[in-house]
This record gives sequence, structure tokens and C-alpha cells, in this order.
Amino acid sequence: MRRLGGQAIGYTAVAAASLVLATAAGWLVPQIDNYAYDWMLRRHAPVRAKPESILLAVDERSLSEMGGMRGLRSALAQGLERVADAGPAVVAIDIILADEGDRSGDEALEAALKRIPRLVLACDLVEGGRRWEDPLARFRQYAAAVGHVHGDPGPLDGVSRIVPLAKAAGRERRWALALEAFRLSRGAPFILESPGDLAIGTLRVPARAEESRAMRIRYVPPDPADGSSPFPRVSLAELRREPALAARFRGKVVFVGMTAQSEMRDRMLTPFGEGSYMPGIEIIANIFETLAGGEFLVPAGNLMVLLVCLVLAGAAVSAFAFRTGWQAYALAAVVLVSAHVFPYLLFQRNIVFPYVAPVLAAWLAAVGAGAFQFVTVRRQLRAAETEKMRYQQAMHFVTHEMRTPLTAIQGSSELMSRYNLTDEKRKQIAGMIHSESKRLARMIETFLNVERLSAGEMQLKTDVFEVRSLVESCVERVEPLAERKRIRLRTLPLADAAIAGDRELMEYAVYNLLTNAVKYSPADTEVTVSAESDGNWLRIPVRDQGIGMDQQEVKKVFQKFYRTERAVASGEKGTGIGLSIVEQIVTHHGGRIEVTSAPGKGSCFTLVLPARVREPETPVQSRDRKGAVG
Ligand code: ADP
Repeated sequence: MRRLGGQAIGYTAVAAASLVLATAAGWLVPQIDNYAYDWMLRRHAPVRAKPESILLAVDERSLSEMGGMRGLRSALAQGLERVADAGPAVVAIDIILADEGDRSGDEALEAALKRIPRLVLACDLVEGGRRWEDPLARFRQYAAAVGHVHGDPGPLDGVSRIVPLAKAAGRERRWALALEAFRLSRGAPFILESPGDLAIGTLRVPARAEESRAMRIRYVPPDPADGSSPFPRVSLAELRREPALAARFRGKVVFVGMTAQSEMRDRMLTPFGEGSYMPGIEIIANIFETLAGGEFLVPAGNLMVLLVCLVLAGAAVSAFAFRTGWQAYALAAVVLVSAHVFPYLLFQRNIVFPYVAPVLAAWLAAVGAGAFQFVTVRRQLRAAETEKMRYQQAMHFVTHEMRTPLTAIQGSSELMSRYNLTDEKRKQIAGMIHSESKRLARMIETFLNVERLSAGEMQLKTDVFEVRSLVESCVERVEPLAERKRIRLRTLPLADAAIAGDRELMEYAVYNLLTNAVKYSPADTEVTVSAESDGNWLRIPVRDQGIGMDQQEVKKVFQKFYRTERAVASGEKGTGIGLSIVEQIVTHHGGRIEVTSAPGKGSCFTLVLPARVREPETPVQSRDRKGAVG
């Protein structure tokens, strides 16, 4: 349960971190979103009939034929006369006519403009955007509207994606030239405003007031055959030479402006790629066509973006939280593909959705959750292995340690059943069976208790008992063994102190040290035990004059099933498990065990335990040690 909770937190953290990083990245590196936008814009152009607009271009050749910019107004006047003859729907002129030119040119131009019924003239922002520079009054009087010709190129790459349909200088606001041309072409008397959109006749343009009525330009793709401009165009020079060309302007919205290469000032980059500079007049025609097409690209709201990223990150994380192996990978792959495709699908529905945030959210979440799963699976595997090892060791313990008393019991009971024994002998054997089976039971109990303590399944008992009685009862039990080996077992002064804990387990510990001391000592030596207390710590040293150990061996004696060569050679039976249990018991009692030893000289094993005052007050906390490997 606890592990599951931990994992849930882990996976949630991965999802949250991915979400935060992805949205931050989307915000910090908008350029990638721009690239994705441009790509989608190029791929997905709405299918439309032929453009309504036509360009009357002042190209390089027109310029040279009319003798440079000075001859512009007369040449323009001549061209416009021909256009007026043809009967255009609207004429919008993207040339600033704010200054006086030469007299004859201005007069001719004025006369030409007078003949155009739906005329839009351009105005320019000057003085750092504080004032509008309008056409001269003599020209303006014939204009049905004056419109601005300002773009809003992207601040990072200078690409024109958006046009502010409204622009203000001080309090004076102007609509875009293309918007005015569109309004006139639809015969709409005015533009109706609401905070969220603009209405021109029946058309609604989603352009918000607080964003300067920004509108995304839906560029008409270039001719697929040769990449040339999709708009029909006639240059001033051509028109002059071939007046019949004027027929092409009939009923069309005519945009008049410079296309000459030398007029670089008026060119801007478009989403159609590197170096795709487009004359301002053509961008204006594109704005007009966007309005005429009526399919507007609207950016997705921030909340929606956040929600989609959340769903994607959540889905990617869930794939790994609830599935493993190929299923998890397959699900994550589905989420990743969705994240990549989703912005495109929305784009087809005219919604502009960022690309970086969802894609990054999905990737980070998938990779993060995958890594997290890998780590947790590995950890679980390790835990399972430890568990298996514990189980194996328990089996070892049962087979090794219990065989001795079991063999004794089996042998004795067989003796009793097979032979006619004297009553006295029978009693003696029965007594032996009884004590061996009790020993066996106690051993199993001890082993199980230590295991339970280590697994955290059991609280340590907190009985308070005298050290003296503990040591004395152990000595009493070891005495016969010592006598048999002619070893002197001496009890040195025992401190008047108490221990809090499990008496049975502590007895096992002291008894084990004493039997080891006797087992690993030759005859005619001495084993001593004492108990010293300094008020805080209680020390119970068990010292012998036996075979001893070197430093390497001392380090290993607490490992399960470890026995020194010397011990094996001594012929004493053993399993190498007792000390590992002793160590665990002592640790659970908040103490430790110290060993000093020298080969051939003897050893001293000292139990160091926290001393207790007489009243049973603070219970000893069991130390929650995972794994029984000592
Ligand atoms: P066992 O006595 O059953 O082998 P233990 O875990 O009690 O298992 O002891 C592990 C090993 O530590 C012994 O086999 C022995 O090599 C070494 N050892 C323990 N006590 C002593 C001692 N008093 N003197 C020398 N060696 C000892």
C-alpha cells in the first residue's frame, strides 16, 4: 500500500514537472511555434475561387520609363485614368500622397482620382507613431476612405503573420487599407465594433479590441508551377503600352503600389520561407483575400492550451503508471503521435494551437514516467530478491540448526521403543527428549521473533528485568557444557542494573556468547562474564582464552553461515547463524556488539545495551531494520 502511494506521488510529480517545463518552454521559445505555424499555413490553404484582387504594379521597368520617382504622379494619373475607364469595384492606392509633387503631375492625378468612385488612399504613421500623415486634401476629398498600411512583423524573425486591422496615433484611429477596401467592395457603410469582433455587412471578423484588432493573414499560396505570385497583375509600363489590358480591372478590387526591387523598404518576409520577401501591396492583397475568404484563424485560449497539455501529460504518465512493457510503450506512442498531430487537426478547423507546449508536455511526461517506471520496477525486483534470500536463509536455519536436537529426539525415542530399558534409563531419556524438544521450540520461537522484528511485524517487548538474573540463569545453563570440556566458567561482579526489552531474546544472546566461548576454547582455560554499568550504558563482556580470530575473521562473524577455518578445524559443531541472530537482537534493543580477538589468545564479545532505571517507563523503540541479513 505504502509503495503504491509513493508511486502515485512519483507519477504525479513527473506529470506536473512536464507540464510546467513544457509551458515554460513554449513561452520562452516561441520561435518553434512560429515555424510550426508557418508550415501548417503553407500546407493548409483554404480552397478558394480566383482572387478578387488585381495589382497595378509600379515595377522596375515602370520606374525607369517614367524617369524615376519624380515622374510617378503623372504616370500614375495616366494609368488610373485607364483603370477608371474599365470600371473597377474598388481602387486602393498604397502610395503615400502626403507631399506636393510637380504641378502638372498633381493636377493630372487629382483629375484621375476624381473619376474613381470607391477610392481608398493610404496614410502613414509619423513622428514615432504620434501622428497620422494623411494624403493632401486635394486628393483626399475624392477618397471614400483612408486606411493605414502598417504590418506587424514577428518581433523575432520579422515575418508578417498578423495584421493589426486598427491602428491608432494618439486618439485618432485608422482601419487597415485592405479592410476599408473590403468594406467598400461589399457596399457596407461602416464597420461595426464589439469587443471580440468586427462586423462588415454580414461578415464577422474575430479580431479583439485589446489586441489592436489583430488578424492572422491567410496567404494565398504562390502558383505551384513556378512559385510566382497568385495575384494577377498589370504593371504601369505595360498598361501604358497596351491600353487594352485595362479590361482586366473591370469589377475587380485594384491595389496600386510599388513592386520595384529598389523599394525594399516596403517589402516584408512571409511564412512562405526564407527570403520570401513580398511587396507591401501584395501583402495588402492577401489581407483583403483573407477577409473575402471569411475563414479566420483564431488562437486557442490559454486555458485550453493548459488543459490539453495536462491531458497529454496525464495520458503519457498513465501509460506507464497502469501498464508495463510493450503495452505502456504502445500507449505512450499513441499519446506522442496525438500530441504531434493535434495542433494540425485544430489548424484545419482554423484554430491556432501552440506546438511546443503539447509536444514537449507529452514527451517529457512519457520519458519521465518511463524512467520512473524503470527505476521502481528495478527497486521492486531488488526487494523481491531480498525477500527470496530471507526465505532461503530461513530454510537454511531450519535445516542446519534444527537437525541436531531433532536427531537427538529421534535417536532417543527409537531407543525407548526398541529396547527394554530400566525405568531409570527410560526416565533419563524421556527427560532428554523433553529438554531437547523445549530447546527446539525455543529456537524456533527466537528465530521467528527476530524475523518478525526485522520485518517490522512485531513490537519489541518492553519488560524490565535484572541483568544479574539474566546472566546467572545463562551461566547455569552453560555450566554442564563447560564442565564437560574442563573449562572454568567464572562470573565476575555483576552490576546492579536493569534492561528493558525481551528477556527470552536477551537470554538467547548471552547464552549464545557463553556457549561460543566454551565451544571455541581448549580444556583448562577460563571463560568469564561480567556486567558493568555507567548509568547510561550496560556492558556485558564474555571473555575466553580460546582459539581467537584475526581481524578479517572478526569482520565476518556476524554474517549468516560464516564460520572461521579455525572453528571448523576445532571439530566443534555449528551453523554460523547464532551470532547473526545475536546481532539483530542487540540492535533491536538499541545496542551494539563489540569484538576483540587475537588468534590463539582468545576473544572478548561485549554486549553494549542502554541501561534502564528500575521503573518500566519509556518503552524501547524497535529499530525498523529491513532485511534480516546481519
Ligand atoms: P556457530 O558457533 O554455530 O558456528 P556463530 O554465529 O555463533 O555460529 O559463530 C560464527 C563463527 O564465529 C563461529 O563459527 C566461529 O568461527 C566464530 N566465533 C564465534 N565465537 C567465537 C569465539 N568465542 N572464539 C572464536 N571464534 C568464535
